Amino acid sequence: MAEVKLNPMETNQEPGGDFDAVIVGAGFAGLYMLHRMRGLGLSARVFEAGSGVGGTWFWNRYPGARCDIESMEYSYQFSDELQQEWMWTERYASQPEILRYLNHVADRFELRRDIQLNTRVLTATFNETAGRWSIETSAGDQVSAQFCVMATGCLSSTKTPNFKGREHFAGPSYHTGNWAHEGDDFIGKRVGVIGTGSSAIQFIPLIAQQASHLFVFQRTPAYTIPAHNGPLNPEVQREVKANYANFRAHNKLLPSGINIRHNEVSALATPPEERQREYEKRWEHGGLSLLGAFADLLFSKEANDTAVEFIHGKIREAVHDPNIAEKLSPRTVVACKRLCVDTGYYQTFNRSNVTLVDVSSSPIEEITEHGLTVKGKEYELDAIVFATGYDAMTGSLLKINIRGKGGRSLKEAWAEGPRTYLGVATVGFPNLFTITGPGSPSVLTNMIPSIEQHVEWIADCVLYVLNHGFACIEPTLAAQDAWVNHVNEVAGATLYPTCNSWYLGANIPGKSRMFMPYLGFPQYVQKCDDVAAKGYEGFVLIPGNDAERHAALPRG
Ligand code: FAD
Ligand code: NAP
Repeated sequence: MAEVKLNPMETNQEPGGDFDAVIVGAGFAGLYMLHRMRGLGLSARVFEAGSGVGGTWFWNRYPGARCDIESMEYSYQFSDELQQEWMWTERYASQPEILRYLNHVADRFELRRDIQLNTRVLTATFNETAGRWSIETSAGDQVSAQFCVMATGCLSSTKTPNFKGREHFAGPSYHTGNWAHEGDDFIGKRVGVIGTGSSAIQFIPLIAQQASHLFVFQRTPAYTIPAHNGPLNPEVQREVKANYANFRAHNKLLPSGINIRHNEVSALATPPEERQREYEKRWEHGGLSLLGAFADLLFSKEANDTAVEFIHGKIREAVHDPNIAEKLSPRTVVACKRLCVDTGYYQTFNRSNVTLVDVSSSPIEEITEHGLTVKGKEYELDAIVFATGYDAMTGSLLKINIRGKGGRSLKEAWAEGPRTYLGVATVGFPNLFTITGPGSPSVLTNMIPSIEQHVEWIADCVLYVLNHGFACIEPTLAAQDAWVNHVNEVAGATLYPTCNSWYLGANIPGKSRMFMPYLGFPQYVQKCDDVAAKGYEGFVLIPGNDAERHAALPRG
């Protein structure tokens, strides 16, 4: 496995120091947060565990990794020059292209000098006397900051099941979310893939073309819709760019913030032939557009069953062997787990060098030196890919020893599941912000506008605190409790909580079950704006003696 070499030009190692803000993570969120903090005239330091910027798009270099929101949408909008000048090449951008884009952003806005790579934040402790956060890192830094922003990502803490004998496997093994190396291939190898979620579905068709044999170990089949990816039509790019501000504004008002046409009618009230036509149209269009086919898809099981039936029909059309088609057909509600988007996934199971191994009733027993065993049978493998997902939404936050008022840890505060106000702040942790934290729409939206909205809201909030001579801001318990109840109530009225998804924390043994993202876009944005307009309603603002120091700051 090739090791990633550190580019010394990318680092700015200067252990120690006091900052206005420390930002953890240098993905889409951390990069933009740094840019905004600087724009306020504040000093900020970003710590990033990886050896490069890019977050998700730095780590996920598995073959076929790409986004499933169209390129013209999955990008920053804070700089019109940037969005006008950057040229996307495909309808859905690939991982290398998004990583190039984020490196371009880091260079263009001269962000690197305040980013310290190869540095994991280990602890963040709130010092009540000073009203500041003390941060310790894996590189030995001990810094302090008035504000601490967690830009640690919702899908950045990989999960590899604790299979017996894992350490004995003689060949290379990979996790899709920790693939920060290049140059490996699977040509002529016997490869085992564990998992069939969005990541696996993207690379299985590609690895199948290289491997001598590919074994796919499937516990739960997933619904996937063809992407119909291809070169981005230059005319489309020109048209969007000619009206970019309107395009972005329009999308912000749509459920999920994604440019999907949402049909207002019920699936059940639609005659079967018409319903079929609507589904066909969306299947042909590709990607996540199927989600908008009918208004009741995620509210009525009966309505959802019509989508189930449609997709099962598509699987039977694509897969020659009816037994394999049956095994590939999910029984869960469509979209209660994240809908996947693929290129040639189901068809891959027609290849003679691909075997689907059902591990739903007979789990993987053991990893051996030469492969793995299921039902006592050993599958001989040269390489194993773990496409087993993430400790989503809370994993990276809780890996950091975060201690707030009274020395209470975030782990204790969230023992029964994450509790936040608006997904950005938590009682007992003053001046600590979470970008796309649990309780915000985050993973149920196009994440880039959601990230930008959080970054801008946090920057405005910081400015408000400073301009009004406050030392700290923290939510009230009443506001937080009401918000958590609201998030749960909204989710409870849908079909989302009906399957064991990572949205619920159900993929992590022992994790408390709580539907973590907020199903309330776009109203959520208005709620955040209202809170700010009312002088940060639901927050307590704590007076401080730092007013003089901050009087010198730019106002605006
Ligand atoms: P990340 O990109 O996850 O960045 C967080 C960074 O924080 C990481 O670099 C991590 O190393 C760092 N970090 C974490 N903990 C620490 C620590 N203690 N110390 C230092 N650094 C730390 N979203 C969409 O909207 N559309 C898509 O099509 C889409 N596709 C995706 C495909 C894949 C394969 C994955 C995994 C996710 C996808 N997502 C998609 C979600 C994606 O994560 C977000 O869109 C976005 O990239 C998140 O940016 P971020 O900066 O919030 O977090
Ligand atoms: P995932 O959706 O959580 O899938 C993990 C897979 O591993 C599931 O099939 C799961 O089966 C299986 N698994 C876990 N433990 C197992 C075990 N012990 N034995 C057998 N199988 C096991 O993870 P992911 O595919 O990495 O995707 C995570 C999220 O990242 C996505 O939902 C999406 O939000 C994002 N993503 C997006 C794209 C994109 O197209 N833009 C691509 C990749 C990722 P069970 O279902 O039975 O638990």
